[in-house]
Amino acid sequence: MNNVRQFDVVIVGSGIAGSALASALSGSGLSIALIEAQPLNKAPLPCAVDINHFDARVSALTPRSQLFLQKIDAWQGIVSNRLCPYSHMTVWDAEGTGVIDFDCAEVGAPVLGHIVENRVIVASLLQRVQSATDITLLNPVKLESCDILASGGASLVLDSGETIHSDLLVAADGAMSRIRTLFGFETREWDYGHSAIVATVELEQSHQNTAWQRFLPTGPLAFLPLSGEGGRHYCSIVWSVSDSLLEGLLALEPEDFCAELERAFEHRLGKVLACSARFGFPLRQRHAVDYVRPGVALVADAAHTIHPLAGQGINLGLADVAVLAQEVLSGYERGASPGQLQLLKRYQRKRKSENLTMMAAMDGFKALFEQSALPVRLLRNAGMRTVGQLGPLKARLMHRAMGL
Ligand SMILES: Cc1cc2nc3c(=O)[nH]c(=O)nc-3n(C[C@H](O)[C@H](O)[C@H](O)COP(=O)(O)OP(=O)(O)OC[C@H]3O[C@@H](n4cnc5c(N)ncnc54)[C@H](O)[C@@H]3O)c2cc1C
Repeated sequence: MNNVRQFDVVIVGSGIAGSALASALSGSGLSIALIEAQPLNKAPLPCAVDINHFDARVSALTPRSQLFLQKIDAWQGIVSNRLCPYSHMTVWDAEGTGVIDFDCAEVGAPVLGHIVENRVIVASLLQRVQSATDITLLNPVKLESCDILASGGASLVLDSGETIHSDLLVAADGAMSRIRTLFGFETREWDYGHSAIVATVELEQSHQNTAWQRFLPTGPLAFLPLSGEGGRHYCSIVWSVSDSLLEGLLALEPEDFCAELERAFEHRLGKVLACSARFGFPLRQRHAVDYVRPGVALVADAAHTIHPLAGQGINLGLADVAVLAQEVLSGYERGASPGQLQLLKRYQRKRKSENLTMMAAMDGFKALFEQSALPVRLLRNAGMRTVGQLGPLKARLMHRAMGL
């Protein structure tokens, strides 16, 4: 028992959520361990002069996420690497004339958000983690099993053979969370019947700092702006397609895929000149019935996954992290253990309703745009035009999407 290390908080998973939580708790007096199974990528980020130099996984970070990343000193590291602000968003229906435009000027904001490669976000957060003396980073180390201690808190067995104890164990171990399974957290889940193809593309024309989304009956197609060098134009694409179409699209020769993509996007930005390697992600809605139990909390994808059509996944995850950190820190000031159930339940109460509302909205959008019956199409198109003309309603929608 003597060589068991004890921490106040152990976080499993150093993706965006886990490393953001470690950064948010740092400097408070709590001892923190961050455990990551994958070897950290220490290679410097290549210049943005080729489609293959970008991370194919990107996130549309809302102003609320930006504020949080600023608060935990991780935003500057992102800015000094690379990001692409977008000030405009255009959404249109493939089956009709419905179109809606959003511009940051309509809500008096400088931007609607920023598109950032996931690798850039994680690199900046890990730089922050590695400069902190109160965070012990265990890497590459995998959590094998865990249990609740009779005295409260959790006991974790690592693949390094080590056992560690913590007052609070946080599962930031992603959509297939091992901690969620080991502790038997119940989930409600269903397949969207969709997979997403992500890739980086080079385009003939500038993206105009606009996030573009076309709703096709087979799923939404997004072109998200990326920063480019040497006058070249790049976007990250997220093309959600019914599962039956996925394999065929992934198997196409690059030039045939570019031609398909160009057609699906109605040639809005001219020719699709080139495409990076393509990755397919099955899309599944998943929501844990409870996020907490004594000494254990789930955050971000470990607690919920959502269709990427509005780019809200990690924004909801960062909001979970901000609230959990706030509850743990204010509890700590009052002398409460970070694993105290009452404190963790406050976190769950504050986050669950917003997450559920957003998930229901995404389901509604997906179902609405899959309908090809004429009356639904007419109503949908009229609805888009009406929302576009109703200033206050449109501003409310924009505020919600920006997390404000
Ligand atoms: C196609 C697609 C597009 C998306 N686009 C957007 C977008 O535009 N905007 C947005 O907000 N969200 C978007 N999302 C969602 C977003 O990518 C996720 O919400 C986010 O990456 C989840 O981060 P996380 O830190 O919770 O989990 P992850 O990034 O999955 O990190 C989990 C970490 O835990 C580690 N781990 C797992 N198990 C163990 C173990 N046993 N021991 C130790 N370590 C372990 C893993 O190695 C990993 O590093 C998109 C998702 C998809 C699929």
